[in-house]
Amino acid sequence: MMAEPVLELKSVERHYVQGPRKLTILNGADFTLQRGEMVAMVAPSGTGKSTLLHTAGLLERPDGGDVILSGRACGRLSDDERTAIRRNDIGFVYQFHHLLPEFSALENIMMPQLIRGLSKPEASKRAAQLLDYMQIGKRAQHRPAELSGGEQQRVAIARAVANAPLVLLADEPTGNLDPATASYVFDALEALVRQSGLAAMIATHNHELAARMDRRVTLAEGKVVPL
Ligand code: ADP
Ligand code: MG
Repeated sequence: MMAEPVLELKSVERHYVQGPRKLTILNGADFTLQRGEMVAMVAPSGTGKSTLLHTAGLLERPDGGDVILSGRACGRLSDDERTAIRRNDIGFVYQFHHLLPEFSALENIMMPQLIRGLSKPEASKRAAQLLDYMQIGKRAQHRPAELSGGEQQRVAIARAVANAPLVLLADEPTGNLDPATASYVFDALEALVRQSGLAAMIATHNHELAARMDRRVTLAEGKVVPL
């Protein structure tokens, strides 16, 4: 298969100013994610995994360099343009599910689709399919508080892919789960990514899960390097 980069980080810089000190987190980070590829990012706490994912996901702006999604340079676009790209092309999963508490699992997965402009029946149909795919179809009407941690994360993953994004970015998506549940949730995540041909970058501390990815990288001195 021909390589087709969906996400490229080019010489990305991220700095935080803390009082008189300037912290350099990303220092010329380069990274390319190909269509259909699953990459694990394994690095100690505080090295910049979340910063990298937030920058790649257009939640934060690079201080230097650029983020290129499907050939389009995004680093300097307006906030509105970045929000539109995020809505359509990027799925994000956090360590904590961040589901809307007053809505059902089904409604949580419908929401991004409705914001994008799909009709209620269309959004509901796709949400139900995704819940079935994640093997939690029976929980469709449950609110997040009525779901287990593993179920909450499976709903969060379904929500992240509801708009069929180009890229799935996951920041320690199983970090809050016990090992057996983490493995089960990861199975579902992996199956979904594989069958949809999505590209995914997943930060994890779990070496067993990382070993199942196509490739592993880490962060060293603000750069992405193979692990
Ligand atoms: P990781 O996800 O690998 O644990 P982060 O990307 O969250 O790492 O953070 C990398 C470093 O940047 C840490 O030292 C953290 O303290 C610092 N940092 C993150 N966000 C901010 C911020 N908003 N202001 C100042 N420092 C920050
Ligand atoms: Mg983090």
